[in-house]
Amino acid sequence: MAGAQQTPRLRPHSLPVTTIDLPPAAVTAASQPASAHARRVPGARRVPRWWRDASVAAFWLVLLWVTALWVAHGGVQDLGSLSGALTSVGRLTGLVSSALLLVQVFLMARIPWFEQAWGQDELARTHRLVGFTSFNLLWAHIVLITLGYAAASTLGLWGTIVDFVLNYPGMLLAVAGTVALCLVVVTSVRRARRRLRYESWHLIHLYGYLGAGLALPHQLWTGQEFLASTASTVFWWSLYAACAAAVLVFRVGVPLVRSLRSPLRVVAVHEEAPGVTSVVIGGPGVALLRPAAGQFFQWRFVDGPGWTRANPYSLSAAPDGKHLRVTAAHVGDGTRRVADLRPGTRVLVEGPYGRLHAGVRTRQKVLLMGAGIGITPIRALLEDLDQAPGDVVVVHRASTREQLVLGQELFDLASSRGARYVTVEGPRVPGRDTWLPASAAHLSDAEALAQVVPDVAERDVYLCGAPAWMAAAREAALACGVPPTHVHLERFEY
Ligand SMILES: Cc1cc2nc3c(=O)[nH]c(=O)nc-3n(C[C@H](O)[C@H](O)[C@H](O)COP(=O)(O)OP(=O)(O)OC[C@H]3O[C@@H](n4cnc5c(N)ncnc54)[C@H](O)[C@@H]3O)c2cc1C
Repeated sequence: MAGAQQTPRLRPHSLPVTTIDLPPAAVTAASQPASAHARRVPGARRVPRWWRDASVAAFWLVLLWVTALWVAHGGVQDLGSLSGALTSVGRLTGLVSSALLLVQVFLMARIPWFEQAWGQDELARTHRLVGFTSFNLLWAHIVLITLGYAAASTLGLWGTIVDFVLNYPGMLLAVAGTVALCLVVVTSVRRARRRLRYESWHLIHLYGYLGAGLALPHQLWTGQEFLASTASTVFWWSLYAACAAAVLVFRVGVPLVRSLRSPLRVVAVHEEAPGVTSVVIGGPGVALLRPAAGQFFQWRFVDGPGWTRANPYSLSAAPDGKHLRVTAAHVGDGTRRVADLRPGTRVLVEGPYGRLHAGVRTRQKVLLMGAGIGITPIRALLEDLDQAPGDVVVVHRASTREQLVLGQELFDLASSRGARYVTVEGPRVPGRDTWLPASAAHLSDAEALAQVVPDVAERDVYLCGAPAWMAAAREAALACGVPPTHVHLERFEY
């Protein structure tokens, strides 16, 4: 251990830290099989492990089936001539683009089994990737089909375009749909998105549904593949119907029924620190929601104009069946208005969502790491997790001691539950993505983690914080020997 002695140690314990030696029972428990520690979590539907593989297989089967239909309907034979080849490949790109467009809608339909298998953040990232691919293929479709038809006609390129738009049924609507999709994609490019208010971006993003809907008539009326066989027609109608049903049921129906059946209201609002507010929500509906600590909801506070916009907030305390609590840092209009909420305000929710809960736990020993406002689900988990003294370590990162959101609560909870609470304070290291403060810049991320939590490799690691911080903490955990499947995280930004 000579190397470790030479390395300057972190001085993270700026709040008093309770360190309790691991009792032998906990050490034994740590080597039990993974499933022994996962707890049945009420709001989280238990999705079998194979669900992820099955959903990936279903995705590729859809694309394979689309291609098979194209082959069955003469797609390969048409490759013989230039115009035939352009049109045929154009048809294939259009079909794959349509299928991906529907997959994209499906991914964001908030289907509980998908949500639990993948997590909303991963679904959102896949949605983005699938979306850009679908859009590129859409343009390949437009260009190839136009060139193919122009090559076979005497009208020339511009004449063919005009002919298409004016004389082919459903094409004007498809053009309008393409414009809507262009708007969605352009505003989703990261640089453009950063300049837009989230509200405006989200509103424009909803035009994606319009784009998908407006593309349908031209497929129905002129799309050779859509009508070429019964198998084809049934397949495409089923895909459109499944997507529409998923959105209507899970994005509209379920939240609406829940909110009407189980009314919720603001019970109390209090300031945790300057710029950070907690809201307690209660009502007969709380018990019916069956959330788990660590999960989040999309919240709508019906307090006046603008209430229709939902904001996601994690539970910052373990649910007790009567009340829910969220804690919001004021970063924009939505979070700032939380401070002005009054008791009695009606609350509408969608959820619970999220995979950061006790149900994904694989080991008895757990490391909970939170930074900034990302500490909210960590605080709830600390309260909720089954634990013996020493099982749980909490690492809390903030720029200053004053910014340790819910710090006193975490300290009190840790003390009463026998957990270790470690705070890591200080400004960021300039020019380096790290989970450490500048005062520990001489250490690598993994070295520091191993110093603070020497048995980290035996633990499940739950992470929540800014994306770069979380990525650095995750890398450090992996470098210390934590298997990737034992790291669980929630992104507050998609
Ligand atoms: C799963 C999840 C859990 C979260 N939990 C908490 C929490 O417990 N406490 C807390 O303070 N913050 C939490 N956040 C972040 C919080 O939702 C945003 O800070 C808040 O919605 C910002 O809204 P605004 O109007 O104040 O600011 P804006 O200026 O409108 O938005 C600031 C940034 O917040 C993000 N954002 C805004 N609205 C949404 C939305 N509806 N969905 C996703 N991202 C959005 C965008 O990246 C946006 O650029 C969570 C976010 C997610 C995704």
